[in-house]
Amino acid sequence: MDLISSATEMQQRALALRAAGRRIALVPTMGYLHEGHLSLVRLARKRADVVILSLFVNPTQFGPNEDFSRYPRDFERDRALCEKAGVDLLFAPEKESMYVADASVRVTEECLSRGLCGASRPGHFSGVTTVVAKLFNLCQPHVAVFGEKDAQQIRVIRRMVRDLDFPVEIVGAPIVREPDGLAMSSRNVLLKPEHRRQAVCLRRALDVAKRLVALSERNPDGLRAAMEAEIAVAPDAVIDYIAIVDDYSLEPVVRVKRPVLVALAVKFGNVRLIDNEVLKP
Ligand code: AMP
Repeated sequence: MDLISSATEMQQRALALRAAGRRIALVPTMGYLHEGHLSLVRLARKRADVVILSLFVNPTQFGPNEDFSRYPRDFERDRALCEKAGVDLLFAPEKESMYVADASVRVTEECLSRGLCGASRPGHFSGVTTVVAKLFNLCQPHVAVFGEKDAQQIRVIRRMVRDLDFPVEIVGAPIVREPDGLAMSSRNVLLKPEHRRQAVCLRRALDVAKRLVALSERNPDGLRAAMEAEIAVAPDAVIDYIAIVDDYSLEPVVRVKRPVLVALAVKFGNVRLIDNEVLKP
C-alpha cells in the first residue's frame, strides 16, 4: 500500500493511473476506521482495480463549537487496517496541503442541505461538498463510495455530482451496526460507558417507527411522538432532531405516502450521534 500526504502528488498519481487505463474507486473518510468504513472499502474493491482511501479530518465541516479537536485520531491503527483491507493507496493529506491560506471558493448545495443536520450544523454541508469536490479532483475516481449512515450527506453529494457534472458514480453502502444495533461511528468511542449503553435508543426509536408504519400509521406526528417516547427511556439522551422527510426532497411530509427518510440526531453529553432508515409505506 502506498501512502501519499501531498495533494499535488495525489493528483499526479491519479492522472497517471487514469492514463494507464486503471479504474479508480475512492472511499473518503475522516479516519479512526471501523467496520463501517471497511465495508465501503470492500464495495470499492468490487468496482475498481485501484482503491484509494482518503483520511482527512476536514476542519471546514466542523462548526466553531464542535468536536474538531476532540475527534478521535489514530493514524498508525488506520494505516494497518487499510493495509489489511487491501487499500492500494492511502491519501492522508496535511491540512496545509488541502487548503491554501487564502482559499476563497466553496461549493454549496442550497436545497437538500438546509434541514436535518444542516439546520443544527450551519456551514457543515458546504464544508463537506467543498472537500469532496476537491477529493474528486485530486483522486480522479470513476466511482466513490459513501455510507447511508450519513443519509443527508450522500444525497447532497449525489446532487452536487448531478448539478456540477462530476464524472463520478456514487455508490451507497448500508449502515453497519454494533451487535446491540448502535450504528458504528468513530465518535462512539467518545461516549461514557453509561451513555454507550443508552445509545441503543436511536436504533430502538427507528424500530418503533418502522413497526408503526407497517401497522399503517401515516401521520408523521404520531411517528415522532412514539420515537420521542422511546428516546425518553434513555435518561441522558437529548434530542437534537427527529425528522420524517420525503426521501427525495428531504422536505417534511404531512402523510407517509411515498418512501420517507426517518432520521434523528441525539446528544449524550457533548457527543452527537445520528441514525436513519428509509421506510416505505
Ligand atoms: P466518516 O469517517 O465518519 O466521515 O465516514 C466516512 C464514510 O464512512 C462516510 O461515507 C460514512 O457514511 C461512512 N460510514 C460511517 N459509519 C458507517 C457505518 N456505520 N456504516 C456504513 N457506512 C458508514
